[in-house]
Amino acid sequence: MSFDATGLDPRLLRALSKRGFEKPTPVQAECIPKALEGRDIVARARTGSGKTLAYLLPALHRVLTSGKGRSGWQALVLVPTRELCEQVKDEAAAVAAACGADLAATAIAGDAPLRAAAATAGQLVVTTPAKLAQVLREGILTPRMLQDRLQVLVLDEADLLLSYGYEEDVQALAPQIPRSCQCLLMSATSSGDVDRLTKLVLHNPLTLNL
Ligand code: AMP
Repeated sequence: MSFDATGLDPRLLRALSKRGFEKPTPVQAECIPKALEGRDIVARARTGSGKTLAYLLPALHRVLTSGKGRSGWQALVLVPTRELCEQVKDEAAAVAAACGADLAATAIAGDAPLRAAAATAGQLVVTTPAKLAQVLREGILTPRMLQDRLQVLVLDEADLLLSYGYEEDVQALAPQIPRSCQCLLMSATSSGDVDRLTKLVLHNPLTLNL
């Protein structure tokens, strides 16, 4: 399969080719076309399989085709650690830069001034549930902004999100996720805890064992 057959926006196809990615990994070949159909997805995929682009590409596609232009916070990726936050942001930013569109990715992590980072964030934001909870608590991101803007939510390494103790933060976010928002949950393992998180955030998801 080629990336062309996945249904991704031509600007993303050009960016992938510029970045030297010739064809999708098996995880991407399975996940991207399904995600582009708009369903919520639970995907079991391990690190090293190309799972990051498997969710970033459909998320960026949705942002590019949303008609919401430069508004920040259209796609939100929650990851368990600050290091992963930077890595995912770098991968998204590299594709975004090669896209030739006005597309930006922002990491909100660590001690950077929160208000400025959140207010100037790009369309795709990568953060931890704790930082997101703080942004919401301090009113930097309001429930109204989330309702108006959020198109895609990704819970990456969902099994670790739980073991790092972020369940309460995700629980607090859950009622604020717009009904029209597509949710993608990536997890290396399956467990009762991951199932609980799935029920809390996703609607009638498709499960992919990759
Ligand atoms: P991940 O499983 O997301 O941690 O990705 C592992 C590595 O594979 C990363 O360095 C990616 O840049 C790389 N990668 C992801 N997709 C592809 C692809 N389609 N072709 C070649 N390398 C890829």
